[in-house]
Amino acid sequence: MEDYSFIYLIGDPVEHSISPQIYNAAFIQENLPYKYKKKQVKKSNLVDILEKFKTDGTVGFNVTIPHKTLILKYLNELTPIAQEIGAVNTVKIEEGKLIGTNTDIVGIRDALSEANFPHIQDLSIVIVGAGGAARSVSKYFSKFDVKLSIINRTVKNAEILSNALISHPKTNAEIHFYSLNSPKKKQIFQSADLLVNATPIGMWPNINETIFQNYTPLDSQWIFDLVYNPIETQLVKTAKKMGCKLINGLDMLIYQASEAFKWWTGKYPDINLMKKVAIEKLITIFLK
Ligand code: NAP
Repeated sequence: MEDYSFIYLIGDPVEHSISPQIYNAAFIQENLPYKYKKKQVKKSNLVDILEKFKTDGTVGFNVTIPHKTLILKYLNELTPIAQEIGAVNTVKIEEGKLIGTNTDIVGIRDALSEANFPHIQDLSIVIVGAGGAARSVSKYFSKFDVKLSIINRTVKNAEILSNALISHPKTNAEIHFYSLNSPKKKQIFQSADLLVNATPIGMWPNINETIFQNYTPLDSQWIFDLVYNPIETQLVKTAKKMGCKLINGLDMLIYQASEAFKWWTGKYPDINLMKKVAIEKLITIFLK
């Protein structure tokens, strides 16, 4: 008989996730009777899995592609932040009820703070991508008095995200959207104080790709690559060479994981341990 309870990552695909290593190291260190496992869940299985979780002693779970927004309608409660973002990445189960939250905003806030990012005002922020990660990043910056540009391969998705931001009462930013094919692309990139890659471009195994093809960042620009596998993407390598300041995608992952850990267990984990384990695992993947 197992004497621990499970916490899962559900999504499709999940096989490349390093979350089990990160969380399990922290559960062991904190002497908590939990085990974290990945579970591949197809869209057609989502409802059945959620019903099972409600009664089988599961403590909670993380949610990834493609369920982050789809899951909303099946949850019993949402925190205000999950309602605001319109996506859930963390769920806890209490008395058979599924309670969803979103820890990405905390991950972004703390990664910016770790990098000593300046006071957010009168900045031009350019986000490449309009998927789930771009939604969190744009939500974070939309409250500030900044110019926020969303540039995406499918311009319709950039437009939908922009409209959602514009119509939100808490948005203070001036919002623009563009196609990644825009002839103004270089100008848009050059105008940025902060450039964010919120696409999977450059992610293992396509490590030689970069979203900023034919654009070399300026030394005055901040670069935030959300891709953390490999630890140093091609974009980060180029940005370092150019003397740019960097915000670390792995920090975002670790800080959002730390917040999820707190949501399930009531206490914060050892961030340094989580980061050390993550780096070890990423190096193993890279050397394979
Ligand atoms: P997603 O919801 O699938 O969105 C992907 C976005 O990237 C979409 O805007 C998509 O454009 C664009 N895209 C995909 N392939 C592209 C290509 N070949 N060329 C140009 N654009 C492309 O994924 P997501 O959840 O936002 O995740 C994006 C990346 O962020 C992933 O690598 C993920 O690992 C990373 N991430 C990191 C953290 C962290 O904590 N550091 C957190 C979340 C996500 P279309 O609209 O045209 O499809």
